[in-house]
Order: sequence, then C-alpha cells, then structure tokens
Amino acid sequence: MQIEPKPPTAKGPAGMFTGDVFLDAIVQGKEPSRVRVNAVRFTPGARTAWHSHAVGQTLYVTEGRGRIQARGGSISEIRPGDVISTPPGEWHWHGAAPEHYMTHLSITEGVAPDDARAESSWGDHVTDDEYEGRS
Ligand code: MN
Repeated sequence: MQIEPKPPTAKGPAGMFTGDVFLDAIVQGKEPSRVRVNAVRFTPGARTAWHSHAVGQTLYVTEGRGRIQARGGSISEIRPGDVISTPPGEWHWHGAAPEHYMTHLSITEGVAPDDARAESSWGDHVTDDEYEGRS
C-alpha cells in the first residue's frame, strides 16, 4: 500500500459550473479499474450545468444542504448521508442550497476503451429560474 500524493484542489471550470466550486480528486483508478472519486465543494448557490454521465454517477452528500434535479423532474433537497444514483445518460444538475455550502463525493466510472461515448456530456448552465424552480 501507499499514501497517495495529494493533487491540488482544482477550481470547477466556468463552462461547467455556476458559482464557485472546488474539486479534489480522491481516486483515479488505473486500468482495469475505471473508478473516479472526487470530493466536490459547492459554495452557496453554486451548481453544475446540465450534464449527463455515460456510465452513471453516485453522489454521497457529506456536508451542508443541496439541491438536485433530473431533466423533467422536480427539485429535491439533499442532505448529509443521502446517496443519489443517476442512471447512465440521464440529464441532471446538482449544487448547493442558496444559503448553505454543500459537499458531496462523486463516484463515476470512465467509459470502456472500446466505448466511443464521452465520460460526461455538458449542456446549458442552470438558470436562476431553473435553480429556484420557477421554470
Ligand atoms: Mn452529475
């Protein structure tokens, strides 16, 4: 075994997030493992853009209060201890509540070497109306 080197915290790119989001890579599986685990910290009101994951995603909320919504569904509040499973290809967003930080672990898998899909696909930013459930 070994204690892994700690990659620097990365800022979530503005093209994929609204507000300030910080990502810490925890696991980057080496083939044949394709597991990816990231700790993602959202400041109040920050959220992902609409996106989907080719092989699905599991979120484990560790801190704060947050929100999540699948395309065509209603917004749900998420809290520490919640586990959220997103099936492959389902469009969705996740983020902090307006007045709270939120941290979750994101567990995903890379696509197989012979799979032409991208690991994740990114769309429009979540508007304030969408974030507040007004549209
Ligand atoms: Mn996601």
